[in-house]
Amino acid sequence: MPKWWGNPVPKRYSLFPFLWLVYLIYPVITLAQKPVSMMVTGYILIGLFAISYLRSFWSSQWRLLPAIINMLIAGYFCITFDDPGFLTMNFFTTAMLSMIPSTRQFWTGIGTLLTISALTLWISGSHTSMSAWVNVAPPLIVLFVFPFILRMMQNARSLKTELNLAQDEIARLSKIEERQRIARDLHDTLGHTLSLITLKSELAEKLIPKKPELAIQEVKDIQATSRAALKQVRELVSGMNALSVQDELTNTSSILEAAGIRLELSALPQPLSASPLVQNILGLILREAVNNVVKHSGADKCTISLSENNLEFVLSIRDNGAGISPGVQASAGPSSGRGLLGMKERLELIQGTLSYNSAPGDGTTLCVRIPKVVKNQQSRGVS
Ligand code: ATP
Ligand code: MG
Repeated sequence: MPKWWGNPVPKRYSLFPFLWLVYLIYPVITLAQKPVSMMVTGYILIGLFAISYLRSFWSSQWRLLPAIINMLIAGYFCITFDDPGFLTMNFFTTAMLSMIPSTRQFWTGIGTLLTISALTLWISGSHTSMSAWVNVAPPLIVLFVFPFILRMMQNARSLKTELNLAQDEIARLSKIEERQRIARDLHDTLGHTLSLITLKSELAEKLIPKKPELAIQEVKDIQATSRAALKQVRELVSGMNALSVQDELTNTSSILEAAGIRLELSALPQPLSASPLVQNILGLILREAVNNVVKHSGADKCTISLSENNLEFVLSIRDNGAGISPGVQASAGPSSGRGLLGMKERLELIQGTLSYNSAPGDGTTLCVRIPKVVKNQQSRGVS
């Protein structure tokens, strides 16, 4: 037995479809006064009419056929009992038509209803009687207006549902974007500071036996750095972690110095004519790039250049270390690290590009380009 048979209409419609069946009382009473054979056939057809009506609540794909069956049954009653009043049974039919999602099927249904109603009136001869028209015209007008009103109401309801869904989706995407932002910020701020603390504590450990006074200085630096980390966490939580590339250049020198890497600065315009957002992104990229030089390159020299021309800002960080291994380059970035990935994600926001040039044993050059005019188009190239 089909599943729908156990539960005549989906729960979301509640008992409403059944309540409307009360209006079948008119044909039921009319049939009760007819000869038995007519009555039996009529009741069977009314049963079929009710089943076909209830069935149409189940499947949005199969509403047209049950609606046409019901139009034919109503037409049959009109002609057999010579009573155009039976056409009002089509109120059920128009309700069914209004639930059809496809516009084409809806119009096909309306066209069929119009044709069957006109044929019925013509065959039953009602079209020649003025009094019949007076009785039939008002319900017929309502009958044909009814599905359009119902359909408009349903469209408004489904638009509202879609709007709610879209709002939920926007909220969900904003949450994901915010999580990614926090992940990037944590990586680029705390990750960097903790690396600096590790470097400085290793240095302090080495200095303790030979130069304890320098070791004390390093320990003081560690304290200052951890206080700065605390401040960074507070700024991160409140979303106020604005950092400029100029500030970051100052921080950079201390981490490179702690790692024993010589810093060379070149072509730094003062001040850079970049927006705070671009300054912030450049600062965070510089921080991560320098962190990578310290962690991975084994270099003893790092050259940083920051320049701008009419079209773009260009930041380049070059080291004379081991170079990025071919395996990492082939995968266009690290397998587990978030650093290069985070740089690319940040640059995508402002249509910037990231490229790196590296040969084993010949150092690495990381180059970031940020256009001054952000184009309003889909293709955002991040190489
Ligand atoms: P995380 O940044 O998440 O702490 P990570 O530094 O390993 O981890 P990425 O910053 O994405 O991740 O680094 C990518 C990989 O590229 C590194 O693991 C390293 O192998 C290589 N790499 C990056 N920069 C350099 C560099 N200057 N010299 C040599 N190798 C580098
Ligand atoms: Mg890294």
